[in-house]
Amino acid sequence: MSLSEYRKKRNFRVTPEPSGGPPAEEISRLIFVIQKHLSSHLHYDFRLEWNGILLSWAVPKGPSLSSSVKRLAMRVEDHPVEYANFEGVIPEGEYGAGTVMVWDKGTWEPEIPDVDAALKEGELKFTLLGKKLKGSWVLVHTPGYSSTRHSAWLLIKHEDRYASKRDITLDEPYSVLTHRLLADIARDGGGDVKKAASGDPSADRAVRASSTKAASVSARKRQP
Ligand code: MN
Repeated sequence: MSLSEYRKKRNFRVTPEPSGGPPAEEISRLIFVIQKHLSSHLHYDFRLEWNGILLSWAVPKGPSLSSSVKRLAMRVEDHPVEYANFEGVIPEGEYGAGTVMVWDKGTWEPEIPDVDAALKEGELKFTLLGKKLKGSWVLVHTPGYSSTRHSAWLLIKHEDRYASKRDITLDEPYSVLTHRLLADIARDGGGDVKKAASGDPSADRAVRASSTKAASVSARKRQP
């Protein structure tokens, strides 16, 4: 049960009754995280903090910055908020066995007044303030693709100044926490390095991404 009906009937600026949610100043600092996860298949786990948990969707192809691309996002089980900092190796035989990278992290803001109602209605609009992903996005429920276990949604970038045709999953393959690739994380965590490496961009692509970053850093430094 959500609190939307309770909240709709009350003006919490006027009544001393509790709103039952996080205080307004915390709402503006809700975290989001995207964990690149190579288990049986490569996917990106997209998680939004809400009501003390992380709402979670598995996005097989990862996010696209193009507003004309819709990326399938399967709703999966909620995760604890602390999971947002998990990066490492899940041992063989365990659920989700494989390598996990914190691919992007930041805060998010709903663009609609009632998140619980939006989730129920199947259209959640929000703004991301991450290191890689920024600007306006939407998750739209698409019942047609849903299975019995998971409901299917589409993750779509809205057209704004952060929309782009470049492939950010290839251009920015590194962890935002540790600047490691999947293979590095597997090596450090005693995982399957070869398998993890299959989820990283090809070596020359990674080198190029790295040197592009280095070039833009030095270009910035050169600016007066
Ligand atoms: Mn996963």
